[in-house]
Amino acid sequence: MLVGKKFGNLTVIESAGEKRISSVSKYDSPHYLCECACGNQVVVSGPSLEYNIVKDCGCNKFRKKIIK
Ligand SMILES: [Zn+2]
Repeated sequence: MLVGKKFGNLTVIESAGEKRISSVSKYDSPHYLCECACGNQVVVSGPSLEYNIVKDCGCNKFRKKIIK
């Protein structure tokens, strides 16, 4: 359960139920309502949070450095 945890600037507020990430995806995955440090609320999929793919509402994009 991810509710109450922080991922980057996002704090998980509550479960938003199972949703399909995209129309191409075959599986539903749990989504969570999160509050960003800036005050915006966004719904993010569980895996996106757990793998640090999404760390904010989009207000402050983290740039990943790719080390070759
Ligand atoms: Zn934000």
